[in-house]
Amino acid sequence: MTIDVVEDTNRVNLLGMPRQKLIEFFAGLGEKPFRAKQVMQWIHQYGVKDFDDMTNISKTLRQKLKECAVVEGPEITYQNISKDGTRKWLMKMPGGSSIETVLIPEGNRGTLCISSQIGCALDCSFCSTGKQGFNRNLSAEEIVGQIWNAIASFEDLDRNKDRPVTNVVMMGMGEPLLNFDNVMDAIDIMMDDFAYSISKRRLTISTAGVVPAIDRMNGLTDASIAISLHAPNNELRDQLVPVNRKYPIEMLLESVQRYLSNLADKRKVTIEYTLLAGVNDRKTHAEQLISLLKGLPCKINLIPFNPFPGSGYKKPSNNEVRRFQDWLTEGGYITTVRTTRGDDIDAACGQLVGQVEDRTRRSQKYIQVQQVNG
Ligand code: SAH
Repeated sequence: MTIDVVEDTNRVNLLGMPRQKLIEFFAGLGEKPFRAKQVMQWIHQYGVKDFDDMTNISKTLRQKLKECAVVEGPEITYQNISKDGTRKWLMKMPGGSSIETVLIPEGNRGTLCISSQIGCALDCSFCSTGKQGFNRNLSAEEIVGQIWNAIASFEDLDRNKDRPVTNVVMMGMGEPLLNFDNVMDAIDIMMDDFAYSISKRRLTISTAGVVPAIDRMNGLTDASIAISLHAPNNELRDQLVPVNRKYPIEMLLESVQRYLSNLADKRKVTIEYTLLAGVNDRKTHAEQLISLLKGLPCKINLIPFNPFPGSGYKKPSNNEVRRFQDWLTEGGYITTVRTTRGDDIDAACGQLVGQVEDRTRRSQKYIQVQQVNG
């Protein structure tokens, strides 16, 4: 078993341990498996980090836990609440970089958008996270720490009945499937009934299309998936989503089909399509998309491009977005448009930039290119 050790104390952080690992951890202390369930409930359902507050655990065991373990979430350096109720946090990670997490409340739903990496290595041409380069993977506790912190931010919460987070999307910074093991551990915890009980239909892993990792998910998890397609043909997708050069569209859609057909229930994949004015929003693109997705159980989510300085792309007008949506709807696809929330606090897709200490030096190259191009 690999466990993350808190550096200065040599104590393990229990926040990122899924039930099975926690059972093994307690076995190592000579304790029965049910302790794992008890401690998970304290940590995740009651937000308790101090072992002394875990009152159904014997004093001797609490003492033992204090000596060898901690419950520690990432440090929140900034919180902003938008006029529409959207909350955004900047969380500082050991090493100095920061990541962003966003919570979007909507009626009795609360969707939490979680980051999986500091920065991103994939460099999609229209994504500002990509322009910041890549620093490192987040650990399971840093991923789970985002939902833990988000819930803790509600001060008067009645934890026995209020559920500020009902849905989780791995659509923050990073490519979740390039941080496979930690993401699998983290979603295991988020879906666990002794932790957050997020249902498989309400937990979505979004990927730019790392095909071998989609195949690896088979049998390991039954979470929902979203594919960042953004283009209906390989020529265009090669430019917008460079990982397409390695795993082209046909290969990607086949792996998605395999994943869906291995699930016990009937599920649809979400096809994400960021609309870039004049680039991928023409009628021919809609027509190609309609025939490309034939036979795939899917729904399409259109994301109007969220501009950022120097991106070189434009957001289509509302009319152009609606026109593209109509073409797809007429083609037989359930098509939604992602409404922009938390605009006043820069919480929209692709605006999650965190503060990445870039180890790939891509941000430097990007700034140079921007200067050359004016
Ligand atoms: N790496 C994952 C998660 C990325 S973010 C993935 O690729 O799916 C979630 C979505 O926002 C992706 O579909 C991404 O392509 C899209 N996105 C990124 N930057 C954007 C921007 N500036 N405007 C609109 N959508 C953007």
